[in-house]
Amino acid sequence: MAEYCRCGRQAVQRTAWTQSNAGRRFVGCVGGRSGCNYFRWIDEPMCLQGRVVIYGLRERVRALEEEMAQNASLREEALEAPRQEHSYWFYVCAMVLFVLVIVLCNSNDEDN
Ligand SMILES: [Zn+2]
Repeated sequence: MAEYCRCGRQAVQRTAWTQSNAGRRFVGCVGGRSGCNYFRWIDEPMCLQGRVVIYGLRERVRALEEEMAQNASLREEALEAPRQEHSYWFYVCAMVLFVLVIVLCNSNDEDN
């Protein structure tokens, strides 16, 4: 059944990730503290050991996600570097061909 906050909007379910309430679910105003600040815990408080373990795991997940994002951007840079080098050689070859065509055309003109 839907639960409404004091501003008449449907309350939303969220999960707290603070050190003292890691993983503990609550419902609150969609506007949070900017709204009516309606708030109610869904879960009972967890024992200290549970809070420490869940918060520690959450921090490890966050660190691994940051590391993965950094690795992904490094991988993209590594994939892009050879492509730029490839286009550099394409332009060098095109310039050499262009110069060769001009030289050959000029030498044909001088023969006539
Ligand atoms: Zn509200």
